[in-house]
Amino acid sequence: MPPISQPKHTEYDIVFIGGGSGGVAGSRRAAAHGAKVALIESTPTLGGTCVKVGCVPKKIMWHAADIADKIRHAQGYKFKGPGIGEPQFDWKAFKPQRDAYIRRLNGIYDNNVTKEGVDYFEGFARLNSPSEVEIAGSDGNKITLKTKYICVATGGRPTVPSDEQIPGASLGIDSDGFFDLEDQPKRVAVVGAGYIAVELAGVFNTLGSETHLVIRHENFLRTFDPTVYETLGNWATHTGIHIHKKSHVTKVEGTKGGPLTVHTDHGDKIEVDCLLWAIGRHANTEGLGLEKLGVALNKKGEIVTNEYQESNVPGILSVGDVQGRVLLTPVAIAAGRKLSNRLFGPQKFKNDKLDYENIATVVFSHPPIGTVGLTEPEAIEKYGKDNIKIYKSSFRALYFSQVPEEEKEPSVHKVVVAGPEEKVVGIHTIGLGSDEIIQGFAVAVKMGATKDDLDNTVAIHPTSGEELVTLK
Ligand code: FAD
Ligand code: NDP
Repeated sequence: MPPISQPKHTEYDIVFIGGGSGGVAGSRRAAAHGAKVALIESTPTLGGTCVKVGCVPKKIMWHAADIADKIRHAQGYKFKGPGIGEPQFDWKAFKPQRDAYIRRLNGIYDNNVTKEGVDYFEGFARLNSPSEVEIAGSDGNKITLKTKYICVATGGRPTVPSDEQIPGASLGIDSDGFFDLEDQPKRVAVVGAGYIAVELAGVFNTLGSETHLVIRHENFLRTFDPTVYETLGNWATHTGIHIHKKSHVTKVEGTKGGPLTVHTDHGDKIEVDCLLWAIGRHANTEGLGLEKLGVALNKKGEIVTNEYQESNVPGILSVGDVQGRVLLTPVAIAAGRKLSNRLFGPQKFKNDKLDYENIATVVFSHPPIGTVGLTEPEAIEKYGKDNIKIYKSSFRALYFSQVPEEEKEPSVHKVVVAGPEEKVVGIHTIGLGSDEIIQGFAVAVKMGATKDDLDNTVAIHPTSGEELVTLK
C-alpha cells in the first residue's frame, strides 16, 4: 500500500468526506471557485455507490435485459436467423466487460478531481472537532487535516436482516452482491418493494431467471402513484414474475451460493439458487465521531440538515444519501455543487441551495416508470379532492403494433392538476420511453406549467410523449 499522502495546505477551506456523487461534485466545484479543498475516500477508487454498485452497472444490466426483450420482439418484425426470438445472455462473459467499464470510470473520476486541484486522500475519515479531520490510511498511518468546513458525504449501504431476526438471512446477498454475481442464477428470490427490488427482479426475469418477488404488502413501489404501480404489478405478473404478496420471510435454509429454500409466513417454500435482500439502505454515519461532537442524527441514523445542508453544529455540513433526503445521484451532485457555490462562489450564488421539490425520478423497470411531482393521493391530501383533476391515457406504443398481443407492454400517462388554473402538480408515466420522456416534462412542472401550457404545445408524432400534450 502506498503511504498516505501529506497535506498540501496547513489549513483547508473545506474537507469533503466520501468520494461518491456528492463528495466528488462538491469538492470539484469548491476547487473551481478557488477554495483549498480536500477529498477523502475510504476505498481505493472514487465514484461511490452510483458508479460502482448503483446507477451505472444497474443501467447497463437494464439495457442488457431490454435487448433481450427486443430480440423477442424481433420475431414479430419478421427478423429471421439463429437466436431471433430466443435471447441467450452470457452473463459470465458480460460481467468482466461491465466491470472493466466501471474501472475506466473510476480512473476518469481520479483524473477529474486531480485536474481540478482537489487534494485527494485515500483513508477512513473521522471528525476530531468541527475543524479537524483525522484520516486513517490503509497503511496504518494517520494524518490530521485542519479546515474551516467539513462536509460529510459518506452515503449509505444496503440493509440486510441479521440471522437473529431471520434465521439464515446471511445466506442471501444484497444489491452490492448482485454486481459480484459471476453467473446468472437460474432461480432467484428478491425480497423488498422499492426501486432496487423492482429493478433487479425485472432484470433477472427479463434475462430469463425464474424470479420471485417477496413483498410485505399488496403492492410494491407504494410511494409512487397507484396508476403506475398497479400497471407495473399486473405486467410483472403477466411476464412471469412470481409476486408473493403480504409475505414475510421467516427462515432461509441451504448453503451460501448453493440452492436455498426461502420460507415465508404464508407457508411458501421458495426453492432458489440466489436470495437478494433489497429492503432499503441506511446511512454511513458510524465511526465518524459525529455523536461525540453533538451532530444531530434522526431515528434512522441520518444526519439532520437544514435547507443549506448545515447540521446543527456550525461548520459541519452534509450532502447526499447520508442526510436521507431523496436518495438519488443527481440530488447528491446538485446539493454538493450548490453548497460549494454558496460558500466559495461569486456573489450571485450567496443564497444557492437545492430545491428538493418536484425532483423527477425514473424506475428502470420493464417497462420503465417516469414520475415528477405529487401522486394523486398526495395531491388530494394537499389540495382536497374537489380541487384536483386527473387526465389519463392508457395506450400501446406504436412499436408494439407488430408483436403478438401477449408481448404488447402497457403505457399509461397521467397528469394531476390543481386549482381553477389547472396547474400541473404531478406527472406519472409508465411504458416504453417513459424514462427519457419525463426529464423535459419535469422542466415544465418546475416552471409552474398549467394544463393549457401542455395543450398549447404542438405534439411530436408518432411518439409516446405526444400523449402528454394531447390529454382530454
Ligand atoms: P455514495 O455514492 O454512496 O458515496 C459515499 C462514499 O463515501 C463512498 O465511496 C464510501 O466509500 C465513502 N465513505 C463512507 N464512509 C467514509 C469515511 N468514514 N471516510 C471516507 N470515505 C467514506 N440513483 C439515481 O439517481 N439513479 C439510479 O438509477 C440509481 N440506481 C441505483 C441503483 C442501486 C443498486 C443503488 C444501490 C443506488 C442507486 N441510486 C440511483 C442511488 C445513488 O447511487 C445514490 O443516491 C448516490 O450514489 C448517493 O451519492 P452519495 O455521494 O451521497 O454517496
Ligand atoms: P427503498 O427505500 O426504495 O425501498 C425499500 C422497500 O422495501 C421499502 O419501501 C419497503 O416497502 C420494503 N421493506 C422495508 N423493510 C422491509 C423488510 N424488513 N422486509 C421486506 N420489505 C421491506 O430502498 P431501496 O433499497 O430499493 O433503494 C434505496 C434508494 O436508492 C431508493 O429509495 C432510491 O432513492 C435510490 N435508488 C434509485 C434508483 C433510481 O433512481 N432508478 C434505483 C435504485 C435505488 P414496503 O413498505 O412496501 O414493504
